[in-house]
Amino acid sequence: MPLFVEYVRPAWRISRDGPRDFSGGEFWGRLSVGARVVEWALNDDDSVTVRHPGCRGILAALAGQPSEPQRYRVCTVKAPAAHGGERTWWACPGCGRRCGLLFLIVGRDRLGCRRCCRLVYRSQYRPRGVGSRRRG
Ligand SMILES: [Zn+2]
Repeated sequence: MPLFVEYVRPAWRISRDGPRDFSGGEFWGRLSVGARVVEWALNDDDSVTVRHPGCRGILAALAGQPSEPQRYRVCTVKAPAAHGGERTWWACPGCGRRCGLLFLIVGRDRLGCRRCCRLVYRSQYRPRGVGSRRRG
C-alpha cells in the first residue's frame, strides 16, 4: 500500500505571494506539517530557514528521549501565473522541483514534495492489476 496524501496532512501550502502569508506570520512562524511542528523564518532572498524534529526524533520521543532538531533552508521560486503577475512556489528540498505543497512524513528528515514522499491521492490509487500506478 502506498502512502496516501490524505493521511499525512497537514501539508505546508505556499501562498501565491510566498511563505510570509502563512499561519499569520510575516517573517517567521510555526505550524504543524504532518505530525511535527515546523518553525520557519523568512530570509532576504525569500527562502525560509526551517527547524523541526528529525525523524529519529519521533522514535526517540516515543522512547522518552530528546529529539534531534533539523535545521535547513527551503528555497522558493517565482514563475508567471496563469492570470498574470507572478506566483511563488516551493523548490522541493529533495528534488528541486517546483511545488505548491510540502509534506513531512514519518521516516524522512526533510520536507519534500509529493513525489519525494511517494504519496498518491487515494482517489487515484488503483490496486494491483487495475491500470498502472506511476512512481517517483
Ligand atoms: Zn521533491
